[in-house]
Amino acid sequence: MKIIGIARETLEFILHVSESSAPNEFAGLMQQTDGVITDIIILPGTESSDRNAVIKLFMMPNIKSVGSIHSHPTSNVTPSKADIRLFGKTGSHHIIVGAPYDENSWKCYDGDGQVQDLPVLDVELEEPEIL
Ligand code: ZN
Repeated sequence: MKIIGIARETLEFILHVSESSAPNEFAGLMQQTDGVITDIIILPGTESSDRNAVIKLFMMPNIKSVGSIHSHPTSNVTPSKADIRLFGKTGSHHIIVGAPYDENSWKCYDGDGQVQDLPVLDVELEEPEIL
């Protein structure tokens, strides 16, 4: 399934959760509907270090996802080495969100950690699913 973008509501949800988790980080896996990223599976509990959040994502092997989302406590949204290892294993699209958690403080990466375009789409959707 080719990913054509992320639903605006889903992105706003991600930014909101990232902001309310700060200074702790939050991580989750993204799921798509008809090629649009619409759902986030949030990891239960967040850890205070990026490394731990990423390692927790490695421990969710049975969930089908198009990629990962996690937040950084700073404005630096460059993936770490651990992030890129995770990217290679969990899908094709990976979002990192950083402070100040607004519509410009995130980037999407591919499985190799290269920045890629992810259009924000206005689509109707149900409330993001929280497991
Ligand atoms: Zn990271």
